[in-house]
Amino acid sequence: MSIPDGIPGRLLDIRQRMARAAARSGRTEDACELLVVSKTWPVEKIAEVVAAGHCTFGENKVQEAETKVPVLASMVSPPLHWHLIGHLQRNKVRKALPLFDTLHSIDSLKLARYTSNIAGELGKKPDVYLQVDLAGEESKNGYVADALLRDLDDLMALENLSIVGLMCIPPAAATPEEGRPWFAKLRELRDQLEVRAGVSFPGLSMGMSGDFEVAIEEGSTIVRVGSAIFGERDYPG
Ligand SMILES: *Cc1c(COP(=O)(O)O)cnc(C)c1O
Repeated sequence: MSIPDGIPGRLLDIRQRMARAAARSGRTEDACELLVVSKTWPVEKIAEVVAAGHCTFGENKVQEAETKVPVLASMVSPPLHWHLIGHLQRNKVRKALPLFDTLHSIDSLKLARYTSNIAGELGKKPDVYLQVDLAGEESKNGYVADALLRDLDDLMALENLSIVGLMCIPPAAATPEEGRPWFAKLRELRDQLEVRAGVSFPGLSMGMSGDFEVAIEEGSTIVRVGSAIFGERDYPG
């Protein structure tokens, strides 16, 4: 399959592949949202994506977002939405909340409580995905499933966080299909938590450039796609 040149062509290609993956799994074409991951890319490149009609972006570092978000706000006319996809350090929470309306990486009750308190102070209520470490990888951030089950009621009670679902970054894989069991596992955990908490918890933030179609087939509601739109990053984000 040939990859189209230029950001508008690649964006369209991703959207079409997303719609086909949703259709294959019997979901509506708009069942899954696209988050364009703009980490490491300059504002001029991001503005090209905005010009092609896309307004929701993911960054993994608060510091990087701090410089890009205000510049882009003055460069483009549509309002942009920013999601934090990288690990959130406690000492960055106060800076992060005015920049990001959605956090994909809350992974402890302590961090959640602190973030909710600061959000209250700032008059914010971010959407939150709880990051899950499905494989129990030492090096990865994220809740292990047992701890999440234990903390769920306390998390749901936090007044200034709107908990919308779960997020995962599966272990590195050689093929997209290798991601499938992890995506299915995150969906099953979500279903289990919904039964436990008696609430609707619809969001599944899963799937990246290499495996977003498989993630959508397994129920993803938001895919985080960077290099398939911008090209390869020069340095790791
Ligand atoms: C960088 C990053 C992505 C996007 O990765 P690509 O392979 O470039 O699509 C998605 N999620 C997280 C958490 C990331 O850090």
